[in-house]
Amino acid sequence: MNKIIVANWKMNPMSIEEAAELARGTDMKKVVIVPPFPFLSRVKDVLKHAKLGAQDVFWTDSGAYTGEVSPMMLVKLGVKFVIVGHSERRNYFHETDETVNKKIHAALTAKLSVIFCVGENKDVRKKGIRHAEEFIRHELQRGLESVAVPRHAKSIIVAYEPIWAIGTGDTATPNDIETMAMFIKEWFRKTFGAQNVPDVLYGGSVSGGSAHAIAKCGGIDGVLVGGASLRAEEFKTIVQNFKV
Ligand code: PEP
Repeated sequence: MNKIIVANWKMNPMSIEEAAELARGTDMKKVVIVPPFPFLSRVKDVLKHAKLGAQDVFWTDSGAYTGEVSPMMLVKLGVKFVIVGHSERRNYFHETDETVNKKIHAALTAKLSVIFCVGENKDVRKKGIRHAEEFIRHELQRGLESVAVPRHAKSIIVAYEPIWAIGTGDTATPNDIETMAMFIKEWFRKTFGAQNVPDVLYGGSVSGGSAHAIAKCGGIDGVLVGGASLRAEEFKTIVQNFKV
């Protein structure tokens, strides 16, 4: 089990100089730094320990797709990981399970590791944990449709990110996190066999204060951190909690 801490900077910081400084301050083993596209190259030059990730990817290598970035472009920049299906992309940019699926296929073909985000919204969660599990199962099935999971098992990471916990300060309880991580792993075990169970991360308002309890959750192999990844000292505290 490899602990992994993903720093999703989202659309921050504002300048390339600030990006370089933040990268220097958070450059640690086990960390994947995921800056906005324009900062990838500069951040890559700074990193000595952390790996580089991208926040999204398109599903073909080139062509008339204004505004998109292809898997091969990312690979050539030294990117190793890509986040696919983040709820902000599903919500604001109308990504669907189908587009998520195409992106996963393309990223894996390009030998990128995929951080596949799944997570239920508040309405689903209010109906109870079984409804939430059913929702997640559906996202997993649709997102991984026709993906040769056994061939790519080492390159797939699932990030369980309940939408109601992202950016709200309302972290899921350790019990909820553990229940869902176990559910996701069991689904992979039953569907693809015991050899093909991915690492599972939790994301949703992870902070310096909550990291200790999350690190102890069964089935959790790391965290995906948004807001707190922009605060170098707090991010270091989070990483310390996942040192094994
Ligand atoms: C995220 O970016 O997916 C995330 C979990 O953000 P935050 O930590 O700010 O909730």
